[in-house]
Amino acid sequence: MTAPTAIDDLLNERLEKRRQDGLLRTLRALKIPEVITSNGGVLAPKVLVDFCSNDYLGFAQSAELKNLTAIELSKFPNYPNGSGGSRLLSGNTKYTEETEEFIANYHSAPAGLFFNSGYDANTGLLSSVPQRGDTIISDELNHASLIDGCRLSLAQRFKFKHNDLADLEKKLKIAKGSVFVVVESVYSMDGDLASLLEISSLCEKYTANLVVDEAHATGVFGRNGAGLVTELHLENKVFARIVTFGKAMGTHGAIVLGSNTLRQYLINFARSFIYTTAAPMHHVAAIKAAYLLLSQTSSKKLNQNIAVFQKLARACNLPILESNSTIQGVLFSTNNAAKSVATYLQKQGFDARAILSPTVPAGKERIRICIHQFNTEEEITALISNLKTTLND
Ligand code: PLP
Repeated sequence: MTAPTAIDDLLNERLEKRRQDGLLRTLRALKIPEVITSNGGVLAPKVLVDFCSNDYLGFAQSAELKNLTAIELSKFPNYPNGSGGSRLLSGNTKYTEETEEFIANYHSAPAGLFFNSGYDANTGLLSSVPQRGDTIISDELNHASLIDGCRLSLAQRFKFKHNDLADLEKKLKIAKGSVFVVVESVYSMDGDLASLLEISSLCEKYTANLVVDEAHATGVFGRNGAGLVTELHLENKVFARIVTFGKAMGTHGAIVLGSNTLRQYLINFARSFIYTTAAPMHHVAAIKAAYLLLSQTSSKKLNQNIAVFQKLARACNLPILESNSTIQGVLFSTNNAAKSVATYLQKQGFDARAILSPTVPAGKERIRICIHQFNTEEEITALISNLKTTLND
């Protein structure tokens, strides 16, 4: 058995290697914003201009959402602080089930089941549905939570080249058993969209089941922000959708959307659903309130901001990624170059972060820029002008 100090030494060695490679991850504590501004109830970020968070619509900082949550909660004056257990034991309420139904309906899906996070939803779904003898075909740029879900499954697994229909078809031809094709509607590091219409046609041709992670499309694409699947009217062609609440919805948690049978199945077999404490009621109320707010929110300003960023970045010949989503990126060819530009931008008052290899392929390191509804044109212009300065240095 390894002695406690010996194991610490071993861990330190690995951490040291990470540090030497320039890849050590550290936590940064952010200040909680305190000032309520008059522009739609958004709490003003006190320190850096936010080009980093996934809070695309400003909901995480929204005073209006806080009020709506309080109104929801006021229906239950004696709501408990905690759920007290898993959904299958003491942690389920009629309100939770009604909210799942409400959200499923919002996304034009027959049913939905909450998970405590998108990570839990993806691992729960993919580890439980595809069985030994089945096949999962997963886009090579899928998020770690989808990759981990695939790894937990006993099914055979293939990756297909990012958004490459020919490669997907090649894998579909050799797939055995029940087949699952797993994609994101908006890719989290590149911001590009899956070719969902074509992928869905291929799934139909080969009788494969399409799983779509809508984490970065929720609140941004589709009627009333219901996602890319609804925008493309593919609701009936998709086996399962994963919608997460920690991004544009400004809260936390996730829902898997699909048939009533899928919901029943996940309740019985998804370990990340079964063996965990259910979200407390105030959390469910915040999610419900976020949907009420979303139904009244236009994404016009968000789309304008994306267009402004693209127009200015192209005018300056910045090496940007091809993306029409909230996730934009300026490419560099080394970790050090991306890191030093991120540090420069932060000193100039912008919260924009470097994404390094191996998270992205070597030579494609980048500054990932998230565009928000609340960013002003002046802020976007200033960001671009600072990026231009660093690239000309
Ligand atoms: N799926 C995608 C595409 C993501 O980008 C993320 C989070 O970054 C997740 C799933 C995980 O969601 P959550 O943060 O709710 O665990």
